[in-house]
Amino acid sequence: MPELPEVEVVRRGLERHVVGHRLDEVSVLHPRPVRRHLAGADDFAARTTGRLVVDALRRGKYLWLPLDSGDAVLAHLGMSGQLLVQPAGAPDERHLRVRFGLSEVSTGSTDRGVSTGWTGRQELRFVDQRMFGGLSVSPEGADLPSEIAHIARDPMDPLFDEDAFVAKVRRRGSGIKRILLDQTVISGVGNIYADEALWRSRLHGDRLGTKLRPVEIRRLLWDVREVMGAALLEGGTSFDALYVNVNGQSGYFDRSLQAYGQEGLPCRRCGTPIVRTAFMNRSSYHCPRCQPRPRVRRA
Ligand SMILES: [Zn+2]
Repeated sequence: MPELPEVEVVRRGLERHVVGHRLDEVSVLHPRPVRRHLAGADDFAARTTGRLVVDALRRGKYLWLPLDSGDAVLAHLGMSGQLLVQPAGAPDERHLRVRFGLSEVSTGSTDRGVSTGWTGRQELRFVDQRMFGGLSVSPEGADLPSEIAHIARDPMDPLFDEDAFVAKVRRRGSGIKRILLDQTVISGVGNIYADEALWRSRLHGDRLGTKLRPVEIRRLLWDVREVMGAALLEGGTSFDALYVNVNGQSGYFDRSLQAYGQEGLPCRRCGTPIVRTAFMNRSSYHCPRCQPRPRVRRA
């Protein structure tokens, strides 16, 4: 499942390859990926065909493309979704679900969409094997789709409010890992990044928000950003390629993990074997020496 850095890689690719183009010849090849567009596939195509893509934005793991109509195409990649930019003649992917032709837009005075007609013509393709992800049109959603307005900004967002984050964490009587995964407090931090950041900060995930000092919370936020930034660099190798690609795996997951998935392996700081514990139907990994469990447990 793509985590936030992978989704940011996709956003940057969209910014580079899709913004400034007009969507034409929109084809919905399977109804499931547009199921959240309640007016149906034909309406989805009607609202997007001929529209100019003016930006590529992200909130947490959601992406949206503001259109010149004031609407937006809202996208979530789910477990296996990909947004690819392909030459128009490239063979269809096996799990191709939605296809948008991309017209070059003249930068001249007419502000009319002009199909270049020459060899550089490209398509934006939504490919999704398992189809947990999808696309919809958010009416008047160009600034911020109402469907995702409840999602907090993520720590890589320049407008992320650090002071508000510290204050929110200190009001929560739950464990810091649970707080990190709460999308209404901070978005985009998945299980892997939470474990990695907590290891760097030497905090056990059960430490209560109310018991953390502001300096510890700020340090943790720093570490969240460091971990995500490292992953972004690893994923960044695909920026310049034609492909706007995500498959939930970046090199980061293989090479740079210090805690997540490292059960039994020596902590790279102190040599103590990393421990795995059950956490909300998933697993948590921590170093029992660097990240001691809080002594006093309160409900
Ligand atoms: Zn350790």
